[in-house]
Amino acid sequence: MKKTIPIKPAKVEITSENKCSFCKGSKCCTYITHQIDTPKRKEDFDYLLWQVSHKNVRVYKDEDGWFLLVDNPCVHIMKDGRCGIYEVRPATCRAHTNDYCEYDSSAEDGFDLYFDGYESLLAYCKKRFKKWDKWKEKQALEY
Ligand code: SF4
Ligand code: SF4
Repeated sequence: MKKTIPIKPAKVEITSENKCSFCKGSKCCTYITHQIDTPKRKEDFDYLLWQVSHKNVRVYKDEDGWFLLVDNPCVHIMKDGRCGIYEVRPATCRAHTNDYCEYDSSAEDGFDLYFDGYESLLAYCKKRFKKWDKWKEKQALEY
């Protein structure tokens, strides 16, 4: 009768050359971001509320400003996590470095503000603009 002996996997040093092969789901290929003008007025936030009302659209602010985040994976990620168009991948992908990336720390860790959808952004609007509800009531009477 054959016996199986569990063998502990050898410790592997993570380097920039092998890091991506350990990254489950190729995290940096699962969303896009788009910088937007800094929202200031109630109207700006009302517009953002419309945007985050759509599935998988988020908003965040970090040291570089405000961004829309569309949380959808790239269609070119292959089953094994590699890029299906690697040789001709867009410049944005070419410029991305894995020196310190989402494998090391979640992107949210670097955000000053993060709104994962309508409810969290609405709560922020109500806090930021004391007359938010009144303004919306007035808007509803106008059109
Ligand atoms: S660059 Fe970082 S987040 Fe992207 S696949 Fe490689 S290890 Fe993962
Ligand atoms: S094109 Fe390739 S490298 Fe760029 S996001 Fe898609 S899978 Fe990732």
